[in-house]
Amino acid sequence: MNGWQSVVNGILNLLYPSLPLCSLCAQPVRYVAQGAGEKGGTVPLCAVCKEQFAFILDNICKLCGRPWIADTVCEDCARRTERYIHYSRSAVRYNEAMKGLLAQYKYRGDRKLADVMVSLLLRAWRLHYAGMKVDCLTYIPLHEARLLERTFNQAQEMACLLAHEVGVPLYGLLERKKATEKQSKQDRTSRLNALQNVFHFSPEEAFMLPDCPVIVLIDDVYTTGATLAEAGRAIKEGIPQANVYGLTVAR
Ligand SMILES: [Zn+2]
Ligand SMILES: [Zn+2]
Repeated sequence: MNGWQSVVNGILNLLYPSLPLCSLCAQPVRYVAQGAGEKGGTVPLCAVCKEQFAFILDNICKLCGRPWIADTVCEDCARRTERYIHYSRSAVRYNEAMKGLLAQYKYRGDRKLADVMVSLLLRAWRLHYAGMKVDCLTYIPLHEARLLERTFNQAQEMACLLAHEVGVPLYGLLERKKATEKQSKQDRTSRLNALQNVFHFSPEEAFMLPDCPVIVLIDDVYTTGATLAEAGRAIKEGIPQANVYGLTVAR
């Protein structure tokens, strides 16, 4: 912030002391534009910060939720033979800004970003899942060693905050058996192979679910869909009748 800007902001704060502050840059937010799926529960973002996000709205692949010709299936999904995930939806594109923000949240442990991420998830939830009877949320687990290194699991934290917002129970259903390389360092084939049998069904606690439960699996990014698919497979190992859906912040 330069000198003039802080003077202007100082005056604005005096004139309008109740202006909410942007969750990313802490500037006062003078005008909160309400886009699709936004109302209550979402955090204030200024126009500049909000512009970084490329929201994914209704023209999407029916299965993986990437921007695509509405009501059709994209080429990657058409090639896929397994169907462990009913379908998946994401809030925004995984663009440069989003990569930076997610890295800041995940690797540098910037926990205030959790609220921003959850407000993006909440927006996608309202667009795609609010009308459904969802029985529980669950999340992609981290390997124990990674958890020690990073001190928290971003997917679990986001799932926990989202569960609270939408009033759906959250169950930890999976365990990660091996630590995998960062997906971004591998090509598509080795990525898919490395993920085979990475997860297994291992509920943290007793849970109550109906016979054919609808479960929404939370993660930060959908890249190839391999992580969600493998987690979906592991959930069905324990609950064969489960209908598993995905919800990620970025795609
Ligand atoms: Zn801002
Ligand atoms: Zn697709």
